[in-house]
Amino acid sequence: MRENDSTQSLIERDRAFVFHASTHLRDYAQGRAPGRVISGGRGIRLRDRDGHELIDGFAGLYCVNVGYGREEIIEAIAAQGRQLAYYHTYVGHTNEPLVELSEKVLGLAGQGMSKIYYGLSGSDANETQIKLVRYYANVLGTDKKKIISRTRGYHGSTIAAGSLTGLPSFHDHFDLPIAGILHTDAPYYYRRDRGEQSEREFSRQCAESLEALILREGPGTVGAFIAEPVLGTGGIVPPPQGYWEEIRAVLDRYQVLLIADEVVCGFGRLGVDFGSQYYAMKPDLITVAKGLTSAYLPLSGVMVGERVWKVLEQGTGEFGPIGHGYTYSGHPLGAVAALANLEIIQREGLTANAARVGAHLQARLAGRFGGHPLVGDVRGIGLLAALEFSPRPRERRQFDPALRIGARVGAAALEQGLIARAMPHGDILGFAPPLIITAEEVDDLVERAGRAVDRVRDELIREGVVLD
Ligand SMILES: *Cc1c(COP(=O)(O)O)cnc(C)c1O
Repeated sequence: MRENDSTQSLIERDRAFVFHASTHLRDYAQGRAPGRVISGGRGIRLRDRDGHELIDGFAGLYCVNVGYGREEIIEAIAAQGRQLAYYHTYVGHTNEPLVELSEKVLGLAGQGMSKIYYGLSGSDANETQIKLVRYYANVLGTDKKKIISRTRGYHGSTIAAGSLTGLPSFHDHFDLPIAGILHTDAPYYYRRDRGEQSEREFSRQCAESLEALILREGPGTVGAFIAEPVLGTGGIVPPPQGYWEEIRAVLDRYQVLLIADEVVCGFGRLGVDFGSQYYAMKPDLITVAKGLTSAYLPLSGVMVGERVWKVLEQGTGEFGPIGHGYTYSGHPLGAVAALANLEIIQREGLTANAARVGAHLQARLAGRFGGHPLVGDVRGIGLLAALEFSPRPRERRQFDPALRIGARVGAAALEQGLIARAMPHGDILGFAPPLIITAEEVDDLVERAGRAVDRVRDELIREGVVLD
């Protein structure tokens, strides 16, 4: 690194050489979209290279759950690196942290989970899930290979996991989704068509539409349903009352496996270890990533329940060793990072903190934004929350997407020193702070968010945009 470079020249070199995720490539390369160099972090705060301090109200991408700058994770990684930085885990090779981590994670997950396979990202873990569904069907000699996901679900951005994702921008111009992946309704009560419907009625309607899809496709062809306990990137939407009960009954009726994508909810975000426990989903398979290491190193996992595991064993009895593996599966550095991370979560009681301070966050958001002329919905659970903006909250109207209200409020929050995420679809501002956040810090966060939303409201009024 050239220490004396100005931040501006660093960003210019970045524009020349770096291909960024989820970025307007032309505007960024031509200098018409802003860049920012993040240079340090402690606790819930980040620092950029020009010395600005920001509260990270989204924990990176809802992943830095124990906060920034945790020496003990960094030390654990360094110590393991000196001992053994890498060996593969093919054909029965293992390493000590991997054994310890696996026992620990399966113990936390409970729900009959039997084994865990490791990858490096949520996307590749869901790729593994898709392969397991196909393999399972082939061992049992059935055609149950189609997978149903949901509109607004988020499951990654590779070819197959990106197909599971139910957001248009991840499909359009990439020729996705691939065959064999179908989408059913999002459990998005706020956006229901019928105003007078209760949550329970809406949940019933979601289950009926899932059942209709299974029947249309043929129950003999549908192998699995994949879902996040609480919709994340699709808008941070907790399920309506009775949803998981209704869905589970339909899946049972047609022997459809349930894959719980716990990449966001897992390891405490909702105030319990796993979202599937909170909603009694009884999953057959579980995907984890983000919070597993708090992103100190990349690591993901696929947990396999006992029922599916028996069939996988039977399959290798017939076909030989399973043809699936990544060079970095079960990487020892990822494993120690995860162990140190889980140790912090346990010792500091961060899951209980997420429940307690999370309830405070939800109450403060409801108090500050309930009835606000720009806010149609305030929702969330634990330390996961969202505001959805509306020009006419009482009618649940939506803004013209061209106004990009969500992005505008996100930018206004940044001016208040707060990172909150403008979610990619809809005018929704998301909050998912590190699980170490205190009640006082939540008060500060909500105040900053309030000033940002008020400012955008004032600007819109000045611009003549009609509000209620
Ligand atoms: C982020 C995310 C993924 C994808 O994880 P990557 O590590 O970005 O590939 C999958 N599922 C959910 C629920 C996620 O939030």
